[in-house]
Amino acid sequence: LPKYDAIIIGAGILGLATAYHIKREKPNQKVLVIDKKPAAGQGNTAKSGGMFRSFFYSKTNFKLANSSIEFYKRLEESGVDLGMRWTGYLWLFQEDQYKRLEADLKEMERRGGEFKLIDRREIEEKLNINTKAGESEEAEIMNLKNIDIGLLVPKAGKIDVEKLVSYYEREFLRMGGEVIYGTEVDEIIVEPEIKLELPGEPYFWQEAKVSGVRVGSKIIRGKKIIVATGVWADQLLDGIGVDSYQKPKKRQIFVVKAEEEKLKRLLYAEGFNREGCIPFTILPYPRIYVKPSIEEEAFWIGYADDFNRPFQLEEDPQPEENYYRYGIYPVLSAYMPQFKDANPINAWAGQYAINTFDGQPVIFEERNLIVVGAASGSGIMKADAIGRIASALYFGREKAELYGGEEFKVEHLGIKNRYVEREEFVI
Ligand SMILES: Cc1cc2nc3c(=O)[nH]c(=O)nc-3n(C[C@H](O)[C@H](O)[C@H](O)COP(=O)(O)OP(=O)(O)OC[C@H]3O[C@@H](n4cnc5c(N)ncnc54)[C@H](O)[C@@H]3O)c2cc1C
Repeated sequence: LPKYDAIIIGAGILGLATAYHIKREKPNQKVLVIDKKPAAGQGNTAKSGGMFRSFFYSKTNFKLANSSIEFYKRLEESGVDLGMRWTGYLWLFQEDQYKRLEADLKEMERRGGEFKLIDRREIEEKLNINTKAGESEEAEIMNLKNIDIGLLVPKAGKIDVEKLVSYYEREFLRMGGEVIYGTEVDEIIVEPEIKLELPGEPYFWQEAKVSGVRVGSKIIRGKKIIVATGVWADQLLDGIGVDSYQKPKKRQIFVVKAEEEKLKRLLYAEGFNREGCIPFTILPYPRIYVKPSIEEEAFWIGYADDFNRPFQLEEDPQPEENYYRYGIYPVLSAYMPQFKDANPINAWAGQYAINTFDGQPVIFEERNLIVVGAASGSGIMKADAIGRIASALYFGREKAELYGGEEFKVEHLGIKNRYVEREEFVI
């Protein structure tokens, strides 16, 4: 008999949210989470910027993010510290960029998306940045734009990812869930329903299903195996001929301390939010982002480069000094001269697990195997909804109930009957 009802491989945010929701729904389920790292959330979850926003055009994106954010907010209101900071998001645009988005923004507003427009004068006043970068000498080479308008989204900010991981892990353990860390799953075991002891079975005419995992020389049996291994999924799934529909791409974050007065003034810019800091700010082009980290009196800076950045799985990706020096720095300091001569004091790199087709998570089941992944760079802000949908699939339900009561058809994130709305607000 299988020892576990469910074995979840991967204690990242998606594996843990799934584990938590399975136990929450039916505490008598015997659930094991295994991870090769020494503790929970040490894969790409630990590399995250922890930003969230409830502002998307796509109904799919909006439902997943908004319901998760509402859940995290409710937890905080009930006394669980998740380190949520409502900094808001501020997108900066040149007039023509904004004009192209205007119709979609109207529709987003109709759908309940909240935002406020800020004119150039106010941006200059509050941030003291260079709104005329598009007219500078380097503008043509670096494709810089002017800043004419800002789009401020209040229902957005950052969350302490470690605290969120701890919450799901702690509650899962409290409900009797089991974890094994520092243990790599080597293989997913596929066996015939009826064993005939033939060499090399199962054969194609036998009913076969996933029945457990191999860890070294040991086999752990489970009725269902859930693969939530993020960018590493293909290492397990290729061997049994199942596609994970996600590709790894490196992403880097650089931390610049607000040491000088000019950077401090930028960090503690007033008039945007209750936190008394600059919002998470996205430059017009190239869309470098600047995240305030009041706790460290610093900025986290990053950019999601696409073309010419290989899809390449790396166990321990490293930040590239030149990526900051020759990539980010000249652009950043052209728009925000406060960063002139400032160097990062820390940096790291991780990988997005990107669904290259529609950029949305993938959750499907095949012969007792459930795959949960392809969070595509927004797994933290959508984790709760993804966990609920994976749990609904595990229990064989057609619909998941997201936090707040809205229903979500499970197959809409699957493969056969996939239905996701395109994101028009691509920024
Ligand atoms: C630089 C960066 C910035 C980001 N910023 C944001 C952000 O601001 N907001 C946001 O919402 N998202 C952000 N993301 C994305 C977010 O971090 C991911 O979507 C999310 O963490 C994915 O979670 P996961 O559980 O799928 O993967 P992971 O956290 O990678 O978890 C997979 C786990 O599986 C384990 N594993 C793999 N193979 C095996 C095996 N064979 N046996 C045992 N264990 C195994 C790994 O050790 C790992 O712990 C960012 C990502 C990066 C890299």
